[in-house]
Amino acid sequence: MDQTDVIVVGGGMAGLCAAASAAGAGARVVLLEATDRVGGAARWSAGRIWTFTDLPEMRRRVPLGDARLQAALAADLLAGLDWLAGLGLPLAAQRPDRLGTGRVMGLGAVGDRTPFLQELADRVSGLGVEIRHRSRVTALTRTPHGVRLADDTGWEVHATAVVLASGGFQGGAELTRSYLGPEARHLMLRSAPACTGDGLRMGLAAGGTVSRGMADFYGHTMPKHADLLEPTEFKAATLNAAADAILVNRDGRRFTDEADGVVEETNAVAAMYQPGGAFYLICDGDRADRIPIDLIGRIADRAGVPRGEILLSADSLVGLTESMAKAWKIPGTTLAQTLANAELMPHRSRPLSPLRTPPFVAVACVAAITLPYGGLAVEPSGALVDAGGEHLAGLFAAGADAGGVFHGAYAGGLAWALVSGRRAGASAAAAARRSPVASGGDAR
Ligand SMILES: Cc1cc2nc3c(=O)[nH]c(=O)nc-3n(C[C@H](O)[C@H](O)[C@H](O)COP(=O)(O)OP(=O)(O)OC[C@H]3O[C@@H](n4cnc5c(N)ncnc54)[C@H](O)[C@@H]3O)c2cc1C
Repeated sequence: MDQTDVIVVGGGMAGLCAAASAAGAGARVVLLEATDRVGGAARWSAGRIWTFTDLPEMRRRVPLGDARLQAALAADLLAGLDWLAGLGLPLAAQRPDRLGTGRVMGLGAVGDRTPFLQELADRVSGLGVEIRHRSRVTALTRTPHGVRLADDTGWEVHATAVVLASGGFQGGAELTRSYLGPEARHLMLRSAPACTGDGLRMGLAAGGTVSRGMADFYGHTMPKHADLLEPTEFKAATLNAAADAILVNRDGRRFTDEADGVVEETNAVAAMYQPGGAFYLICDGDRADRIPIDLIGRIADRAGVPRGEILLSADSLVGLTESMAKAWKIPGTTLAQTLANAELMPHRSRPLSPLRTPPFVAVACVAAITLPYGGLAVEPSGALVDAGGEHLAGLFAAGADAGGVFHGAYAGGLAWALVSGRRAGASAAAAARRSPVASGGDAR
């Protein structure tokens, strides 16, 4: 069997940062990636690496998250960005807005950051890390001096430490239904299909325990049938308009505080529980520029349905109500009452400007999951802990596999992948240095 110091499971943002960090600390590192390319969901991201670096602000915006993990995230982001720049990765300034502090990946484009992730992978290889593609880790066993791993090709390796960075369990139907509830069947996957929860499964089987936030997730409002898009189109199809719009379910009733959350992410969670998972976004002409009308046309073409199954418009709210009743069977009287009282229950955390300007638009929506907030319980060092809070020697997690930093609201998955990846990689390298057993053979 091959032997190395550190194995990293998953070649997304967290795994690449963990591998670089461990190799930079002198460890021999092998990174195993299930698919034929690195990058994970980060490839399809906007590339914005941001969080709230002011800890009181973080606590105010994401009060249910783990305060110790958040302190690590807030403290390390800027150093992490400098570290990326030091590796030679281009980073652009981010526009000043409500999304805290950060930088933007300087290669690729919004929705396709593959060139940035590939460049990062090249730098990681340059540090001596062996990257093995098409190597899905399927089994992890603890040994007296580390861990034994096997992948789906039958390859086996022994390592002193492992970093689980398999990107969360959003792609695994069984795990999402078990942790989020049976209504998770309504969710569209706005992420990498390969992230099926292997890290969580293996970490739990090895003695780990779950973090807070297991029934909660980071997601978005997407047009119905958006699952037919290419992942590079996910970002452009995301409906970031709810704060200035009204969301109703198929009974014609509001069900959520549309303006809640940091990036309207709480609507997807509330929407998942609506009858049939169906819901509808209603806005007026002042916000219609936020509706990707051309993309919705393409979605309808791919689904083989008339555009009116996803998008309706009218010159008046009354006309829109009638169209929604006719085409989508939304009870017209209830819907009209809802539109007339859109400030009432549920409470809106930000007042809605009245919908006055034609054309009035309605979009049939689906709730999409990008990441679960829950995962393996970890220390700020990245070390896995058991249910009693004891460290599990040699086991670390990063990125979406390291759960609990966010819960109830979101503050930057890429920033967490960068910070937790670096911490877990450095901790794994330190564990390998401390090991009484020097690595025997070489996995490379
Ligand atoms: C459309 C979109 C836009 C986004 N925009 C932003 C943004 O602008 N800013 C932001 O902060 N966040 C954004 N995100 C979220 C961000 O991409 C994630 O938070 C981040 O990628 C998580 O990193 P990760 O390394 O944990 O997981 P991933 O990047 O998904 O990587 C996990 C990797 O593990 C691999 N893997 C899974 N199982 C195994 C196994 N058993 N063995 C080996 N490999 C395995 C997968 O193939 C994958 O490559 C966006 C996400 C999407 C989908």
